[in-house]
Amino acid sequence: MPDQILRAMSTDGWVKAVAISSRGIVERARQIHTTTPTATAALGRVLTACSMLGNMQKIEESSLTLQVKGGGPLGTVLAVSDAAGNVRGYVQNPHVSLLEKYAGKLDVGAAVGTNGMLTVIRDLQMKEPYVGSVELVSGEIGDDVTAYLAQSEQCPSSCGLGVLIDTDCTVRAAGGFILQLLPGAPDSVITRLEQALSTTDSVTKMLDAGMSLPEMLRKVTDGMELEFFEPAEVSYKCYCTRERVEATLVSLGRKELQSIIDEGKPIQVECQFCDTEYKFTPEDVRRILSGL
Ligand SMILES: [Zn+2]
Repeated sequence: MPDQILRAMSTDGWVKAVAISSRGIVERARQIHTTTPTATAALGRVLTACSMLGNMQKIEESSLTLQVKGGGPLGTVLAVSDAAGNVRGYVQNPHVSLLEKYAGKLDVGAAVGTNGMLTVIRDLQMKEPYVGSVELVSGEIGDDVTAYLAQSEQCPSSCGLGVLIDTDCTVRAAGGFILQLLPGAPDSVITRLEQALSTTDSVTKMLDAGMSLPEMLRKVTDGMELEFFEPAEVSYKCYCTRERVEATLVSLGRKELQSIIDEGKPIQVECQFCDTEYKFTPEDVRRILSGL
């Protein structure tokens, strides 16, 4: 089944909700970057959150970058979403060894680290992008996105994320949700949501139990009456072009480019987000260098 994003609104008008099934996205990321399970889980959660946040912008041609830099062994984890929620991403060290809290429970927080920041860059097709950051809370990503939305965007929210890895290291299930309270929501609604969230199972458990997106949203909102919008299909999608990859070549600097020319052999440059390879001959590199 293709990945989907489902948006909903409580009929009382106080709660905005979005949920996603992202198994296909995370599995594609795993294949591209040959991530080990802990890296798959961390990158998968960042991709999942980024997709929902990108979709929620509702501005055509906009994009959203979610970057997590926690000082842990994974290094930087980054994802970029388009306006529909199609995402791409990478993790700096995709082959980190297994980190577990206990047997069978991946320790994403330790792999990401907690000594750093979560940064969101919203490119809303205006002159300057909007950039907001928050210090990491746990490195588990869901908590950190929750803190970001509350602190940096003053929007009381709750974000739950889950990536379940199968015994053969492929992605068995992945998904998440974000709930947001609209301004003026009465205390009774807040209390009801807090209680529901404190007693519901983790996203991973809900996914593993085979819950659908509407079921997951009903569960985390304590069965509130919800109005669902038309679900939208999302996927792992890269927008790389030869020109963009050329720009990363330029960033190598004159000296490096000259040494490629001196080598006299064509080079392959892989896009950092996907497995597309671009070939540059020494002649191509000479042209790039002369254009600097
Ligand atoms: Zn690409």
